[in-house]
Amino acid sequence: MNAGSKYEAVIGLEVHAQLLTESKNFCGCANRFGAPPNTQTCPVCLGLPGVLPVLNRKAVEYIVKTGLAFHSKIAPESRFARKNYFYPDLPKGYQISQYESPVCEGGRVEIVVDGEVRNVLLHRIHLEEDAGKNIHEGSADVSRVDLNRAGVPLMEIVSEPELRTPEEAVAYLKKVRNTLRYLNVCDGNMEEGSFRCDANVSIRPAGSDALGTKAEIKNVNSFRFVKQAIACEVERQIAVVEEGGRVVQETRLFDSARGVTVSMRSKEEAHDYRYFPEPDLVPLVLDRAQVEAWARELPELPDAKRERFAREYGLSEYDAAFLSEERAAADYFEETVRLSGQPKAAANWIMGDLTRFLNEAGGEIAASPVTPERLAGMLDLVENGTISGKIAKAVFEEMFKSGKDAAGVVKEKGLVQVSDAGEIERVVEQVLADNPNELAAYRGGKEKLFGFFVGQVMKKSGGKANPAKVNEILKAKLQPPG
Ligand code: ADP
Ligand code: MG
Ligand code: ZN
Repeated sequence: MNAGSKYEAVIGLEVHAQLLTESKNFCGCANRFGAPPNTQTCPVCLGLPGVLPVLNRKAVEYIVKTGLAFHSKIAPESRFARKNYFYPDLPKGYQISQYESPVCEGGRVEIVVDGEVRNVLLHRIHLEEDAGKNIHEGSADVSRVDLNRAGVPLMEIVSEPELRTPEEAVAYLKKVRNTLRYLNVCDGNMEEGSFRCDANVSIRPAGSDALGTKAEIKNVNSFRFVKQAIACEVERQIAVVEEGGRVVQETRLFDSARGVTVSMRSKEEAHDYRYFPEPDLVPLVLDRAQVEAWARELPELPDAKRERFAREYGLSEYDAAFLSEERAAADYFEETVRLSGQPKAAANWIMGDLTRFLNEAGGEIAASPVTPERLAGMLDLVENGTISGKIAKAVFEEMFKSGKDAAGVVKEKGLVQVSDAGEIERVVEQVLADNPNELAAYRGGKEKLFGFFVGQVMKKSGGKANPAKVNEILKAKLQPPG
């Protein structure tokens, strides 16, 4: 949708986040991804008759901490409800969820898009359980059911319909995911499905306050697809309206191969979940003192960290935002600063070469072969003049590939910077002798050639000459004799 469009998009997101608890939400089965099918089940999560659910205390702690992080109101008392539907991955025939009284109400998520800060309001956050998984791969005419996931604690974070562009939706999702990872309540793995998103999309005439009829796009499993799915759904709805039609309320799926959304079921076919109170669970009553204790345990979150990085280390807004986005990168940065005392240089190396090499190698910063200690060691060598910034590039690459420390690489490859004036003078004289025409031109007023001479000297020294010294000596030698 371009800027001059007659329409405005309205987007609301429902995020499902699996909680990183040891056990499932209502039984003692392990909550672990990737185990052989149906090895993590028991009578409770299989929905056998005569069993009773018992709420996982850790799941409560995690959802409350999430609510506190997003400034939600934490309900002193909330209730569980049964959401009824029939599907083979749901052995009980209902999902334990929350309906009228969720654990968290309201709240907000701060996003920054194009340098502009916006607060996106949350509707609610509630606690529920995941369903199992139907597996269709492996055979053309059989589907199988894996119930390891059935009963895994799931938190649903519902935004108000406050997002306006696919970019805002992605910024919101990233912020939610990063915050959950900071809190260590969800690993945010979209590929494995521990962080999933349904996107509700409608359009309306630009400037209108009314809400149009929405379509819900189910389970979009990457940031890129979320952006694409919303963009094509908006385009589709505009085309429908422009052709004189009406958008109908329905559930759609994103076909990433074709880059379109396709209808899955319309409102007429929609489920009537027949919610009713879960009779097997007492209301969840939260002790005020307990909630306050959890509030004190919250780590410093991305927004606060971003502000502190800018203030304490003099970083630009962009750098502070980049380095505070992921907790692992923020920790890496601060450890490097602690060891080197060089915040700006640390930021530049982390955002530049380290990020590039990690991306190429597909690695996580927490497992980087160049540890904060080693990066700090290299920064020391640059600061004390042992190596130049240029050599540092080569040293860094070698450190990354070999896992060695900077001093070791420098020694092994003989990369120590040459600062000895006599040695540099010899190279400068050689360069001037080799380039008489350029020398004459320079002395004739073509001062732009200075850079050419610097380049030649650096090249001849194998990049090892101290650049500051080279500049100083060249300036003196380029003066006309006499
Ligand atoms: P449902 O009952 O269909 O689940 P809800 O009112 O609970 O709908 O809202 C679900 C999500 O859809 C929320 O994130 C909400 O912000 C979003 N939403 C609601 N109405 C609209 C709309 N007209 N356009 C876009 N998103 C909407
Ligand atoms: Mg919904
Ligand atoms: Zn179980």
